[in-house]
Amino acid sequence: MTRWVEETLHPNFRCALKADRVLYENQTEHQHLIIFDNETFGRVMMLDGVVQLSTTDEFIYHEMMSHVPLFSLGAERAKRVLIIGGGDGGVMREVLKHKSVERCVLVDIDRTVVDLSKEHLPEVSQGAFDDPRAEVIIADGVKYVAETDERFDAIIVDSTEPVGPAAVLFTRGFFEGCARALNKPGVLITQNGLPFMHPDHLRGTMELFSTIFADRATYLVDQPTYFGGPFALAWASNDTSLRDTPLEEIAKRHAASGIPTRYYTPDVHKAAFALPGYVAKLSV
Ligand code: SAM
Repeated sequence: MTRWVEETLHPNFRCALKADRVLYENQTEHQHLIIFDNETFGRVMMLDGVVQLSTTDEFIYHEMMSHVPLFSLGAERAKRVLIIGGGDGGVMREVLKHKSVERCVLVDIDRTVVDLSKEHLPEVSQGAFDDPRAEVIIADGVKYVAETDERFDAIIVDSTEPVGPAAVLFTRGFFEGCARALNKPGVLITQNGLPFMHPDHLRGTMELFSTIFADRATYLVDQPTYFGGPFALAWASNDTSLRDTPLEEIAKRHAASGIPTRYYTPDVHKAAFALPGYVAKLSV
């Protein structure tokens, strides 16, 4: 019998993906986890009824979360990176492509996501977990940023939606912890959902950023498996000049890095910050 796995993120809109083969399904200590194969999207991971990634389109989001902050910082300053969430290893894979990065710490609350991703989604992390520059810590991101003595040039929050265990990753306390753990100059990137479907999600983050960081902005990506319009990533920095790094400089850094990218280009980096009116209005 055909199994359709429904995404239950939106109250008035449902979509479903056909599961040709279910590889894993269980309740972890923190959330419901299912990994299955779909003929169009490849291998799919969902947590608590929400698509986290598919192996065919994950490169879009993972490249844009990693390369926008790191090429903005440049090789001289992109040395220490903290990832909160991201237990599948996709962001870590992209971050570690930067030779300038000396240390990359990943803090995910759910060990099962990390273990199952290594087992069933090895093409996502591509060995990143075994890189000598990488460290994985199983902990709550809020607690980690509040207590760590380490300082980071970039913090990338690759979290689930603001319900369940990730709700705390959208609070003032967490963003203040991130601000504390950032070097100067430093950048924080967060995922902020679909502005069309959940406008309050982006608006809430931007309101908090406006009282904590010197600079804030929204940029957009098109993620085929995040159904419901463009997907918002948020930028916050303690340095107002970082976001203005000229296109020519970004292009020079990208070329010098030799990092092959499929979605990210210097032009896309710059253009992603151009917002449709309805999104700009939420990004006050
Ligand atoms: N790309 C995905 C998306 O935006 O839909 C996110 C993928 S990643 C698998 C999300 C991770 O965030 C999960 O592994 C989850 O365990 C982790 N997470 C949720 N709440 C967390 C918290 N409070 N601290 C650290 N990690 C958390």
